[in-house]
Amino acid sequence: MLITIAGDAPPSTRAAILAAALERGFHAQAMANGRGGEVIGVAGSLPVDQMELPGLDRIQPVHKPWMLASIEARERSVVMVGDVAIGGDTPVVMAGPCSIESIDDQVDIARAVRAEGANILRGGAFKPRSSPYSFQGLGQEGLEALAAARAATGLPVVTEVMEPEQVDLVADYADMLQIGSRNMANFPLLKRVGRANVPVLLKRGFAATQEEFLMSAEYIMAGGNTNVVLCERGIRAFDAAFRFSLDLNVIPSIREVSHLPIIVDPSHGTGRRSLVARMAMAGLAAGADGLMLEVHANPDAALSDGYQTITPAELGRIHRRALALRDALDGFDESDDLAAVTRNAGTTLPLADLERIA
Ligand code: PEP
Ligand code: MN
Repeated sequence: MLITIAGDAPPSTRAAILAAALERGFHAQAMANGRGGEVIGVAGSLPVDQMELPGLDRIQPVHKPWMLASIEARERSVVMVGDVAIGGDTPVVMAGPCSIESIDDQVDIARAVRAEGANILRGGAFKPRSSPYSFQGLGQEGLEALAAARAATGLPVVTEVMEPEQVDLVADYADMLQIGSRNMANFPLLKRVGRANVPVLLKRGFAATQEEFLMSAEYIMAGGNTNVVLCERGIRAFDAAFRFSLDLNVIPSIREVSHLPIIVDPSHGTGRRSLVARMAMAGLAAGADGLMLEVHANPDAALSDGYQTITPAELGRIHRRALALRDALDGFDESDDLAAVTRNAGTTLPLADLERIA
């Protein structure tokens, strides 16, 4: 159940709910509700209405199985990565190479992507490669390269962590921990980052449903780390012309049911650099809160994923158009949309149009 307590509720109310959950062996996790109060997700049913607790705002016995990630739990979340807000009014751009290649290269690309509008620097130090014989990343040296690039540019950094045992090490260097597509359902890893004090970028498994994606976010949040950003990065479809197919449906769909910010990765989502700019725009038009883009000074020479990697100049063009698109779509949100559909359905539209909308 979801129990919302007001900002001015006495601490004893929260404590009583947590104690009642503990007594019954129910998992319970509190988080801010974005309106000054708190919401407590309890994996079971408590008799709160008989507990005479001051400051109770709302009790929701019925909710989605991913209760903490659900829009039923709280207002839209804004996740801070350093001083960058994800989920606010401005689309966030995470950019950098697929793999970190050297300290000097990472510092140079950090300067280049910052100059072209990126807000967060990416780069893989621990790489999940399809072949055990491919470049596996620089490991800790890669993390040091990220630290050097952040020191040189001020950009916060996001990088992937693949193993629970590496979470402390990676969290020492990174401003945001990335869970890759192949690890979206690695539950020990999700539980471990759920206990970390660093925001998490959760990439969708390329064969995962929306429901599974949100349940994985729930794993992280249930551990206490509620700073989760989702990333749609393409799913496996039937057409071999594309490495993956960006699933744009899931962006407005997740915005309907979850308060978590969601960004889009058109680099992995297409597997072709010529498609990246258009699909970046499409992702933002679909409602994404930002982009993750693979960028390299010389994409053809990149040690991994060069075929889907763009140049800093192309990043600059995407960034300028992203800002123009944001202005063009200002005020276009799903509540306006739904209200418009409801209004139309109630009044003027003929039956055929109503069926089309449904
Ligand atoms: C990446 O972003 O470096 C990456 C490996 O992506 P994914 O996990 O989406 O394949
Ligand atoms: Mn890559």
